Amino acid sequence: MVWVSTTQRCLICEMLGERQETRTESAHLNGTTGAKGSNWYVVPLCAWEHHQHGKFSEHALQGEFWSFWGMDKDTVLCGLWEKFKARKT
Ligand SMILES: [Zn+2]
Repeated sequence: MVWVSTTQRCLICEMLGERQETRTESAHLNGTTGAKGSNWYVVPLCAWEHHQHGKFSEHALQGEFWSFWGMDKDTVLCGLWEKFKARKT
């Protein structure tokens, strides 16, 4: 889903109030909640630090990612969906 990567800031940088150093990528989640690989199962994460390479990135932490950052995946996805519906562009 292009919208996520072109319009949204990295979830974690946003939460930490940090400047995002690399572009946003759509992180595809392999969840167990039954959303069968849907396009909606993506979240915005900065390419380097929080998606692919950082010590505490989604790729490094995998299943621990959400609990590590104290976020609820489903809440985040619902929030994104609301933003998407309310988008102006
Ligand atoms: Zn980030």
